[in-house]
Amino acid sequence: MQEQTIRAAVECSGIGLHSGAPVFMRILPAAPGTGIVFRRTDLDGFEIEATGRNVARVSYATSLMKKGVLISTTEHALSAFVGMGIDNAVVELDNLELPILDGSARPFVEMIGKAGIRKQRRPRKYLKIRRGLEMREGDKCISVHPADTYSVSYAINFPHPLIGKETFEVELSNGNYLRHIAAARTFGSRQDEKTMRNMGLIRGASRENCIVLTRDGIENGPLRFSDEFVRHKVLDLVGDLALVGKPILGKVVADRAGHAMHTALVSTILRDKTLWEEVTLSQEEESTASPYASQAAAGSHA
Ligand SMILES: [Zn+2]
Repeated sequence: MQEQTIRAAVECSGIGLHSGAPVFMRILPAAPGTGIVFRRTDLDGFEIEATGRNVARVSYATSLMKKGVLISTTEHALSAFVGMGIDNAVVELDNLELPILDGSARPFVEMIGKAGIRKQRRPRKYLKIRRGLEMREGDKCISVHPADTYSVSYAINFPHPLIGKETFEVELSNGNYLRHIAAARTFGSRQDEKTMRNMGLIRGASRENCIVLTRDGIENGPLRFSDEFVRHKVLDLVGDLALVGKPILGKVVADRAGHAMHTALVSTILRDKTLWEEVTLSQEEESTASPYASQAAAGSHA
């Protein structure tokens, strides 16, 4: 199976969730082997590759940095590229943070859909997990296990009457990403708002781009899924793990993790080459492993 890019340039504009900065974004087709590359058009076209080696700050979002140049909040767009099976693209930005749009990956998915997808003449290389690995931090945990497909299982326990314990498990094939994950929006609570703004965060947050939690409900319902919160965590995880630079074949299990643990897993995987091997798949194998392939399950349980 071959690598893919988009057929034509597509663009959008918006504001950054944390910076509040206006930004114009364009996604361009890219040559085989390029991967996903961010380009700062406001800084002479300075480029930063979407790889774990360029991970900079990670707190409430994932940021990339190279030679002091920052690209912030990369996870939702990268998640959309994985979900749509896009290997190669250039993402141009005229500011430091990606637009938050509606707080989910759906607008990016729609842009890619509008651009169209082009198959390229280079076999796609997958990163196939060979050996299990678990990382713990207090009661948080993230692990990866050998598997023939890419699947994610996420558990959260968030002290809010609408959330509590939520678990979601999905195999990223057969359009499951588009149906179950892409539209899940980011969320934040009114109670944390002041603290976060004082930290210089969420300056662009509004009811249009995140689910706003009050003490006992939400301000801007309805939810897109009753368990939208944990689905958004899956979306974030897929976007952060895209920083390994190749589609993954393995099962990832996360329990109350976050961007820091997601990217720590990426760094560990990139450092330890005994954990994985690079493989190509025949068309037949691909049909069960790719985001477009047949038959897979997705579901949640409380
Ligand atoms: Zn997110």
